Amino acid sequence: MATTVNNRVGSDAKVLQSYLGGKWQAGTEQGAALVNPTTGETVASASSKGLDLKAALAYSRNVGGPALRKLSYGQRAELLGKVADVLAARRDEWFEIGRKNSGNTKADASIDVDGSIGTLKFFAKIGSKLGDAHMLRDGGPMRLARDANFQGLHVGVPLEGVAVHINAFNFPAWGLWEKAAVSLLAGVPVLAKPATSTAWLAQEMVSAVIEAGVLPDGALSILCGSPSDLLDHLQLGDVVAFTGSADTGEGIRQHPRVREQNIRVNIEADSLNSVLLGPDVAPDSPEFGFFAREVMREMTAKAGQKCTAIRRILVPADKAQAAIEAIAGLLKTVVVGDPANAMTNMGPVVNMAQRKSVEEGIAKLRSQADVAYTAENFAPLDADIARGAFVSPTLLKARDSNHADVIHEVEVFGPVATVVPYRDKAEAFALARRGGGSLVASVFSGDAAFLAEAGTALGTTHGRVMLIDPAIGDSHTGHGIVLPSCMHGGPGRAGGGEELGGLHGLWFYHQRVAMQGSAATLTALSEKTVDPHE
Ligand code: NAP
Repeated sequence: MATTVNNRVGSDAKVLQSYLGGKWQAGTEQGAALVNPTTGETVASASSKGLDLKAALAYSRNVGGPALRKLSYGQRAELLGKVADVLAARRDEWFEIGRKNSGNTKADASIDVDGSIGTLKFFAKIGSKLGDAHMLRDGGPMRLARDANFQGLHVGVPLEGVAVHINAFNFPAWGLWEKAAVSLLAGVPVLAKPATSTAWLAQEMVSAVIEAGVLPDGALSILCGSPSDLLDHLQLGDVVAFTGSADTGEGIRQHPRVREQNIRVNIEADSLNSVLLGPDVAPDSPEFGFFAREVMREMTAKAGQKCTAIRRILVPADKAQAAIEAIAGLLKTVVVGDPANAMTNMGPVVNMAQRKSVEEGIAKLRSQADVAYTAENFAPLDADIARGAFVSPTLLKARDSNHADVIHEVEVFGPVATVVPYRDKAEAFALARRGGGSLVASVFSGDAAFLAEAGTALGTTHGRVMLIDPAIGDSHTGHGIVLPSCMHGGPGRAGGGEELGGLHGLWFYHQRVAMQGSAATLTALSEKTVDPHE
């Protein structure tokens, strides 16, 4: 078995290989180019043409699955800790690839790389508490009939298939490991399919883990290049966890094989997240400062390419001007340019196609909003604007909040957000819901009763609601940061998925079975189980 990747280096770029069926394999053509978004130069290419994906899935199922399931949750948690150690040892290399292929500043790379290592360590830690069990249990035995000896028990049996993880371009590291951590802990082998445009980092990380030999054979595979016919070969027991745009997500849900076989699918799609400034917040209060700073951070971190980033800024109408001035004042201080320069706070978006998409998105927003801030004479530091995928942070203001459909419908995946004035709290909540189901909303207020009311009002259409009073204005982890202990996902447009949430995330990779039998039988069965929520 070849364990060391040999990314063929051509005249100017690597050709990424895929790790499938326990060996590194290259597609039969050069494939799609991966670029450095700062300079436009090609850094790698990837192709899946000619790869036997049916055989790859079968290998994961038949070799990786049994090897993983032989281990207990506790033993698999230990493996996650080893994976985290392998990755942590080469952190600087990952940062460098993040800069070259994603235009990441150090802070951006940290969200992706340190976020992935931290998530693996988190699951290593909480997974170790599951000890030597091999199945999950949900609650205890319950009496089902007049005969008290006839009982029922809900257990979770790890799936005997492959977890196909299809990821978006913006988190090549975190997207890979946040899914893989939960799946591997559950005992289900992973076949990861990173977005082609930034697959280099994901591929090198997988290569490091394979080379270290810490996982059983077949437990971790990676497909670089287009998904090809991957979904055509799914079968009972396989699952798909997808992160990306709503359109692609819908295509996966409607895929004939997925429908025919009722393949379990989790979708994390795009989202029009909002921040809501409470009606009580005065422009000279600390809450106002915390709010403005959070908006600036969300607009510029990873050049606004976070699924959780703030897109809509809901402010009381009489404070809209003050909000614009505060946010614009902060945006003016942001240095956009080559992330290799330590002065740079914000790098480019991922490539020229994405820059074009952001520019087109801004044009759409402008049909119903006015630009309130954009850099004058925009000139990125140490970079050529003609070659680099740079976009100025752009703040807009809706002309008519209630009739500005486009602001509530178009996700501009870049450093762009729109101020949406509201009259009263009922209107504010209604506007937040116009996103059609979002990943996250944040509320800034000094009024505890308002925060509680907002939490309930927004909870119906959001996966996460962050309620910030001045006491935690400086200490919260950030609107856009997904924590492994908290559920990630949102209803409606956001895909309707649920990921992470600590050990809750394990259930996606288990079949929940209602076991019925005598008390003695269920007691014997129960000994092999652990209730992750106890
Ligand atoms: P995308 O174009 O939808 O692609 C996502 C993934 O799907 C890529 O790996 C892509 O592969 C793959 N794919 C494309 N067509 C497919 C098909 N027919 N069958 C199976 N897989 C297919 O999204 P993106 O441009 O990479 O990412 C940006 C979007 O992701 C944004 O809208 C953002 O909001 C969303 N996002 C959501 C979350 C979340 O957690 N909710 C997190 C991050 C990003 P190729 O790259 O090879 O085409």
